[in-house]
Amino acid sequence: VSARDLVVVGAGPAGAAAAAHAARAGLDVLVLERAIFPRHKPCAEYLSPEAGRDLDELGVLDEVLDAGAARLTGFRLVAQDGSSALGRFAGAGRFAPFRPWGLALPRATLDQIVIRAAQRAGAEVRFGVTVEGPLLGDGGVAGVVTRQAGARLRLRARAVVAADGLRSVIARRLGLARWGRPRRLALVAHLEGVKEVADYGEMFAGRGWYAGLASIGSGLVNAALVVPIEEAGAVAADPQSLFVRRLTSVPELARRLADARIARAVMVTGPFARTTRRVAVDGCLLAGDAADFFDPFTGEGIFAALRGGRLAAETLVTAIASGDVSRDALRAYRRARRREFQSKWVLERVAGLGAVRPVLYRRFVRALAKRPGIADLWVGAAGDAVPVRELFTPRHLLALAL
Ligand SMILES: Cc1cc2nc3c(=O)[nH]c(=O)nc-3n(C[C@H](O)[C@H](O)[C@H](O)COP(=O)(O)OP(=O)(O)OC[C@H]3O[C@@H](n4cnc5c(N)ncnc54)[C@H](O)[C@@H]3O)c2cc1C
Repeated sequence: VSARDLVVVGAGPAGAAAAAHAARAGLDVLVLERAIFPRHKPCAEYLSPEAGRDLDELGVLDEVLDAGAARLTGFRLVAQDGSSALGRFAGAGRFAPFRPWGLALPRATLDQIVIRAAQRAGAEVRFGVTVEGPLLGDGGVAGVVTRQAGARLRLRARAVVAADGLRSVIARRLGLARWGRPRRLALVAHLEGVKEVADYGEMFAGRGWYAGLASIGSGLVNAALVVPIEEAGAVAADPQSLFVRRLTSVPELARRLADARIARAVMVTGPFARTTRRVAVDGCLLAGDAADFFDPFTGEGIFAALRGGRLAAETLVTAIASGDVSRDALRAYRRARRREFQSKWVLERVAGLGAVRPVLYRRFVRALAKRPGIADLWVGAAGDAVPVRELFTPRHLLALAL
């Protein structure tokens, strides 16, 4: 059997974007996905405004809007004492976002739309195929080994993109995956009947935990609760009761959730802080969560997956054309990722670690409430439009006076 140009493992946003861009550039692409789509994914299901640019490039932004996605114009941050601040994506002056809103819709819908873009571009997608690991040859990764209906199969490829998510089997088998801190678990549900649903997302935080709420269209609200791994016992015993108890411990939420109903049962995931020793090895690039994921607080994972998938495709198109897919030839990918994501890496650490410290978070929220312009800057940075260094200029830090 002749080798494909590119095998992509995983049909989430990273794999779908990589496959679409590579197929558009003329590569012969095969995507292997374990699940049968549509499938649910435990996620808060919000896309930052900048992710809209990637959807637009893939030609699916209108389709996502037509599917009933909610448009979120910003975020409201709520501290344990009830103080809150609202930041808008459009408010950050000269840092105009791609669109003045982010989007939110069920991943079952979003992921199907994005993988269809890859198929339209010419990629072949096989669902229900589990990849067991990389196929190793003399020059590094030479394809993948799959299991299908009990049979083991070797598939050769000039290059492989590992876009198989947080628990990437490719990253693990290549010895690249590293688990990090903080170790947290997430519980995610869809709710119906939530009162006062707004055109922005909301982040509530307490000691060691936080929760995000946002409309995902069609009258549904996504609620995602993140707790420390020390609560794993209580989570395993009864995730739904922990979920309801924690959310309704916030007086505002107790009131707004009084008539709410769980429309899609609580899904549990975690821990999630992950890094990799390298994102490029001979014959293989890691993209999306398979490459790195820190914490969901800033909601940039789907953006990073879509953008990272594109960057992986761009590097591989050049490398495959030149006949050299060695780690050295793939170095451009690491540089491109750093340029694109450095800002995000800083912000998600600052936000993910700071939000669960009640005194700090309260002071931060109160300071933002008094200075809406600065709130817009922070929310704009989380929306991937404002460069993070803007947040740390002496003037802006002084305005917060934490
Ligand atoms: C609680 C929580 C909330 C989040 N909220 C947000 C949010 O609001 N906004 C946001 O932008 N990001 C959010 N994220 C992050 C976001 O979910 C991820 O960053 C994003 O899904 C990464 O996309 P991906 O394509 O890399 O991986 P995934 O979406 O995980 O896709 C990987 C695919 O690979 C397939 N696969 C896995 N193993 C194999 C195998 N061995 N063989 C074949 N196929 C395989 C899987 O079935 C899956 O379809 C959140 C994450 C968590 C944990």
